[in-house]
Amino acid sequence: MTSHNSPATTAYIALGSNLGNRSENISQALHLLDIIPEITIVKVSSLIETAPVGGPKGQNNYINGVAEILSRISAEQLLELMQSIETQLGRPAQQNRPKWSPRTIDLDLLLFGSEIIDKPRLKVPHPLMHQRRFVMAPLVELAPDLTHPLLGLTMRKILDSLAPLIAIAGIIGVGKTTLATKLAQTLNGRLILEEYDKNPFLPRQIAGDAQAALPSELFFLMSRARQLAPENINASELYICDYLFEKNRIFAEIFLNNHQFAVYDELEHAVRPYITAPQTVIYLTDSVKNCHERIIQRGRDFEKTITTDWLTRLSAAYDGLFQKWNSSRLIRLDCSSLDLRRDETINSIAQKIL
Ligand code: ATP
Ligand code: CA
Ligand code: CA
Repeated sequence: MTSHNSPATTAYIALGSNLGNRSENISQALHLLDIIPEITIVKVSSLIETAPVGGPKGQNNYINGVAEILSRISAEQLLELMQSIETQLGRPAQQNRPKWSPRTIDLDLLLFGSEIIDKPRLKVPHPLMHQRRFVMAPLVELAPDLTHPLLGLTMRKILDSLAPLIAIAGIIGVGKTTLATKLAQTLNGRLILEEYDKNPFLPRQIAGDAQAALPSELFFLMSRARQLAPENINASELYICDYLFEKNRIFAEIFLNNHQFAVYDELEHAVRPYITAPQTVIYLTDSVKNCHERIIQRGRDFEKTITTDWLTRLSAAYDGLFQKWNSSRLIRLDCSSLDLRRDETINSIAQKIL
């Protein structure tokens, strides 16, 4: 190994454990790193608890965090030390364990200065780091302005692009609010609901009053923009929203004349950059007839004038939107064969999302 005086490189190590005394395992690993003369621990993020991603079923939750260190040895030598610490703490050798199986400790080298390494045994930056909330959230706590050497984006930007938001889309009466409410319970997430009941223009708009259409659409635009503003979305939580922001434009196109639409369009462009995009969109579909029956059943006064013709038009607009959707993961669910009131249905949808 090189001498203590050789230049030090700032490196980031991901820490994970889901077996035994998880936080104790992480402290142990940090201690074993810190007593190596060529390594200095600079700071450690808070530890977060996360559900396991991938690997065999029925695993414990993980505890994850990130450490910033100074290393006076090479990335290869550092990885070797990290692997020997994993073994010391009781992790079975790699050939004796299935991929992503439970572990007392997992130490991954995320970044080593701005080095780019692509060897069979070592890839830096860690190839999956930018897709993992459980890595990016603690890393952003330590180094929000650090740039990812391959992607050229700051850690903060990368985390923001992983916004923990699930949006549910589909025509009126298909079951968006029912699903959002139940998923929020099952996934322990926060519920974001459309503020239709606060929109003073909506009943007149639905009844066909052309004067009410523009203020109503602008009310929704502003309400949704506020609900989905980045400062209202906390990266360490999960949000389930009963609408998709793009819904606004679909309704504006149906309800507004050209002059009104031009005003709408201008404002939409102004707020667009500040809207949190969902990580996953669930598109609920069902026959227009079934949706119409649900609308009549729930008996909201202002919805009484909604016709099946109009629902058909709305349905075509949503289909068009999702035909060319590529900005996030899309899950399509046919509600004609699903009972959203049953726990089993909700659990299987939750599984699909996770
Ligand atoms: P993942 O890579 O998805 O986080 P894992 O941590 O469970 O999976 P391991 O079984 O711990 O994967 O490691 C598999 C191999 O990955 C190791 O033998 C190691 O040589 C290699 N590897 C490549 N790049 C890195 C890195 N940056 N940090 C840690 N291990 C790496
Ligand atoms: Ca790992
Ligand atoms: Ca690993």
